[in-house]
Amino acid sequence: MARHQDGDETVMKDYAIILAADVPSSDQVFSLVREVGPWIDGLKIGVPTLLEAGVGILGKLSDLIEGKPLLIDLKVADIGFSSKGKWTGTNSKIISKLKSTGATHVTVHGFPGPASIAEAVERAHEADIHVLLLPTMSHPGAELFFSLEFNPANRPDPDSTIIISDSGLSNARDVTEAILMLGETLDVDGYIGPATRPDDLEKYRKISSKSIWCPGFGRQDRLGRDISQQLETWARVVGPNSAAIVGSLIIDDESPHQAAKKLMMTRNDILG
Ligand code: C5P
Repeated sequence: MARHQDGDETVMKDYAIILAADVPSSDQVFSLVREVGPWIDGLKIGVPTLLEAGVGILGKLSDLIEGKPLLIDLKVADIGFSSKGKWTGTNSKIISKLKSTGATHVTVHGFPGPASIAEAVERAHEADIHVLLLPTMSHPGAELFFSLEFNPANRPDPDSTIIISDSGLSNARDVTEAILMLGETLDVDGYIGPATRPDDLEKYRKISSKSIWCPGFGRQDRLGRDISQQLETWARVVGPNSAAIVGSLIIDDESPHQAAKKLMMTRNDILG
C-alpha cells in the first residue's frame, strides 16, 4: 500500500478506472482532472506532462484527486548498479525524483534485467511508491521482442549484483514470462498488462496474483468488442485486484465528464 505525504494510505479500488491524462498541456490536464475527478479511481501522468511541468505538478494533482492512486508512467529502463552495497545506478536517480511528490505508483521496464528491477524496487519502496513492471506492451508489434523464446542459458554473469536462482527463471518460455518471474522474485507490486490480449493476461495470472493495471480499452481493441464486453472479459481474467487504464475513450469524447461517468456506471453494473 503506497503512503501519502500526510501519512494516509492510498486505497486501491477493485477493477479501478485510471484516467490516462494524455492531453497536450498541463493546463489541459488540470481542467480535465477537475472535470472528471469524481468519475475516476486514479490518474496516470505521462512523460510529456512531466517534461512540461516538472514533478511539482504531482502534489497539486494528488490533492485534486483527493489522494486516489497517482501513477507516473515513466517506463523506467535504465541501469541498476551497485557500489559498496548501495544502489547508485540511473534507476535510483530517476525514481528518487518522485519521492514526496504525491506519486503512488511508477512504471518500470523488466527487459533491462534483474539489477535494474531490484534497484528500482528498493528506491521506490523507500519512497513509499509502488512499482508496476512491464512484462509486455499493448500496442501492435510489441510481440516482436516480448514473445521471443527465453533462453535460460543466458544467465546473469557471475559478477552480477543480483543472482537469480534457477527456479526463478528456468520455466519461462518467452521474454514476457521471464520478466513476470523476475518481478515475482524481486518483489514488484504489480504489472502493466495488455487488455488487448486476454491470452497474455491469462499468462500473467498463471504466474502472479499481484495487481495488474491494463491499458488497451476502447480504440485499441482489435477484437471487435464494445466496452462492456471488453470489461467483462478483462475482469474474468485478471480478477478484482486490478485497474483499467483509459485515455481516449474519455478524453476524445465531446463531454469527458459524461464519458467517464458512463464508463464508471458500466463498470459498476457489470462488476459491482
Ligand atoms: O488508448 P488510450 O488512449 O485509452 O490509451 C491509454 C494508455 O494506453 C496510454 O496512456 C498509453 O500508455 C497506453 N497505450 C498503449 N498502447 C497503445 C496506445 C496507448 O499501451 N497502442
